[in-house]
Amino acid sequence: MSKSHISVKRHQQITEQSRSRYCQSQQHIIGILLTADHIISESLGGMTTLENLCLACWDCNLIKGNRITAIEPQTGITVRLFHPNRSRRNIFVGAMMGYTSLA
Ligand SMILES: [Zn+2]
Repeated sequence: MSKSHISVKRHQQITEQSRSRYCQSQQHIIGILLTADHIISESLGGMTTLENLCLACWDCNLIKGNRITAIEPQTGITVRLFHPNRSRRNIFVGAMMGYTSLA
């Protein structure tokens, strides 16, 4: 969860995305307000910038927590998690559940 204030303008820019950037759930379908997520958490030095913020459902936000890496189950190698503003492939959900490759 965010420790710093997110301005109204920045929050509007994020909510224009209208869906969780990790699992792609749309707010109007799940019926629960989506949250602003720091992709790289503030506890790891992530800034409150548009590049580092995305819209996320509560489940994705809680599952991800402050992690930016995970252990790839098939190889045991630590790999970087999906970055919604930099990566095109969304492998977050499967990777966090431990049953898909990040490669
Ligand atoms: Zn989600």
